[in-house]
Amino acid sequence: MVDTLVQPRVVAGANPATLRAEDISAWFGTHKVLDRVSLTMPAGRVTALIGPSGCGKSTFLRILNRMHELITSASLAGRVLLDGEDIYDRGRRITHARREIGMVFQKPNPFPAMSLYDNVLAGLKLNAIKASRDGKDDLVEECLTKAGLWKEVKDRLRQPGGALSGGQQQRLCIARSLAVRPRVLLMDEPCSALDPTSTRRIEETIAELKSEVTIVIVTHNMQQAARVSDTCAFFLASHGTPGVIVEHGETDAMFHAPRDERTADYVNGRF
Ligand code: ADP
Ligand code: MG
Repeated sequence: MVDTLVQPRVVAGANPATLRAEDISAWFGTHKVLDRVSLTMPAGRVTALIGPSGCGKSTFLRILNRMHELITSASLAGRVLLDGEDIYDRGRRITHARREIGMVFQKPNPFPAMSLYDNVLAGLKLNAIKASRDGKDDLVEECLTKAGLWKEVKDRLRQPGGALSGGQQQRLCIARSLAVRPRVLLMDEPCSALDPTSTRRIEETIAELKSEVTIVIVTHNMQQAARVSDTCAFFLASHGTPGVIVEHGETDAMFHAPRDERTADYVNGRF
């Protein structure tokens, strides 16, 4: 007789964290782009950030792992708590925040001349993580498997990252970010440069990953937000005012019974 009991998936070592943004305001010079944004992104769930261009989603996402300190000059008020600990606390190292809170960008950015194998391991050195040769082989296989890429590339791990298709490159970037075992993964429009098939593969990966890493995804694709996310936040910056969250909650409710008329208009494609 076939045993139909499905065991709950237990992920060894997985430790997804709850990320909470509290009263985040941000400025570029004197231009205020976010106004007191608060949001809880629950552990082991997918949170989608939606809203029109220019309302501060990418800025907000970068603030969540201190990436804005590296690539923009935004100044900031508010706190970001990773399981209750402020990642901006004096004494907490910026590299620590970025290791625990990984990021995948819109445009796939593997190291093009570096082998697939070394691409996956690229973050270890930066984070001073040592692994034995066997440990490295296992980690590369594990991360590529989780990113849904192992079967396609296992016989050509020495090829350069740049030799892959766009969708494969994005999955390689996901594998690379998983190798340091982040507790949260931030994704800024990870599929908007990809074709529908590659997009679907990434969505499947997101669904499988969320039990081990909290995911926050910015997307302009409302069907995608509805498919992949458990909770959703709608950002808006109207008429030059800074971005705020108009509404947030369970994704089903946001899409089928939004409380705010502007949310209803946005999710139904009316602006
Ligand atoms: P979204 O991701 O929702 O499209 P962004 O966070 O990219 O929005 O941008 C929010 C606002 O901040 C916009 O008005 C944008 O012009 C401005 N902005 C974004 N990045 C910078 C930057 N590096 N320097 C100055 N202004 C910026
Ligand atoms: Mg953006």
